[in-house]
Amino acid sequence: MTQTIETDVVVIGGGIAGLWLFNTLNKQGYKALLLENAALGGGQTIKSQGIVHGGTKYTLTGTLTKAAECIAGMPDRWRRALKGEDEVDLSGADILSQSQYLWSPGDVGSRLTTFFASKALRGRVEQLKKPEAFPDIFRHEGFRGKIYQLNEVVLDIQTVVKALVNGLENRILKVDWSESTRIVTDDNKVEFIEHKVGDKTFHIKARKFVTTAGEGTESLMKLWGLSQPEMQRRPLHMVMVRHRHPEPLFAHCLGTKPVPRMTITSHPDGEGNWIWYLGGEIAEDGMERTPEEQIRVARRDLVALLPWVNLDEAQWATLFVNRAEPRQTKLLRPDAAFIHETGNGIISWPTKLALAPNLSDEVMKVLNREQLSPSGNEGFALPDEVEHPEICQPFWSEAFT
Ligand code: FAD
Repeated sequence: MTQTIETDVVVIGGGIAGLWLFNTLNKQGYKALLLENAALGGGQTIKSQGIVHGGTKYTLTGTLTKAAECIAGMPDRWRRALKGEDEVDLSGADILSQSQYLWSPGDVGSRLTTFFASKALRGRVEQLKKPEAFPDIFRHEGFRGKIYQLNEVVLDIQTVVKALVNGLENRILKVDWSESTRIVTDDNKVEFIEHKVGDKTFHIKARKFVTTAGEGTESLMKLWGLSQPEMQRRPLHMVMVRHRHPEPLFAHCLGTKPVPRMTITSHPDGEGNWIWYLGGEIAEDGMERTPEEQIRVARRDLVALLPWVNLDEAQWATLFVNRAEPRQTKLLRPDAAFIHETGNGIISWPTKLALAPNLSDEVMKVLNREQLSPSGNEGFALPDEVEHPEICQPFWSEAFT
């Protein structure tokens, strides 16, 4: 028995990009479905550091790059959503830190100090002059260096995913492209997506199909018969350290390169401990290192940078993870959310968690341009027999077992 499900838009991939877009479509009255083949948010999204970048990180060369300008509006946009004042309501999500900091150990930052004080960055970066204003972890007599406060909130990503999914569960379908789901195309246009449950077959039709499948986009495009746009992977070797030091740390440590020497965020493990999550240069340069070597480097660096933090009983783990983006020359990071129109589809990557609203805006512009208006979604739901995907677990959930 075959049942046709007519929709306005089908979004394929439930990471931050797909979820933000899907939530927006629903708010605007579009009949939209989200298709996910694993756990919602379980790709790069949950493995990210949860920083809503405003671009300051990209000014570490001492110039304001295009990337820095494009991303500059994102922190305010997210803050509005977190207060429940945006179309996308993230008021149920948890904020881990109101600010990300930037710290220069010793003299490293002197070249940049003038730049950070410049007009271009006013409002985005503030040097903290009085130790009373420092985050607790730096209020130690052993600390030498400068601290800047950035207008960049750090989020508990699992709670962001929950907030975006809230109330839309019955419009989200768990798919399996190797068994029960397939794309039926005609000349690169998607005719429908076929999904089987037992002896029932569903044909999902849409006026627009949007891929937001992160690293999975490449294989999805093959199923679709598309060879463009090409995708690139930029790998990272992240480090996790669970310890008993009571203070969290949310900071980029400045080094001599345009990438922060280390970017550290802190995540509660639910048992009263912090897990510090280490990215930046250490993760970019750590691909050739074994986990043991990477942990040795991380421990050595942390002891040198923050000698007063007791890491004696710390547990360590590492995580290899790819960032997936449209291909760029020289494996550079793209400047803004990326969308590529093809037939009745859009292939997209946000390129940063922070740019998910930007991606959603760009897709909505296409729908508006094509006058693909919402057909109304009141009471719209998937049939009872289909499976819905789970929400992801924290990135460290299996690391210390
Ligand atoms: P993903 O989160 O990977 O989501 C893709 C989803 O699609 C997944 O749920 C996956 O299961 C699903 N999927 C895949 N294939 C299919 C398919 N065929 N069918 C259906 N579903 C499919 N950015 C920031 O702004 N701030 C940060 O602090 C930050 N930190 C980062 C730290 C790390 C270690 C990494 C790797 C990235 C970080 N980023 C950060 C970048 C950011 O995480 C990504 O740009 C963003 O999460 C990408 O979101 P996405 O929705 O495109 O992809």
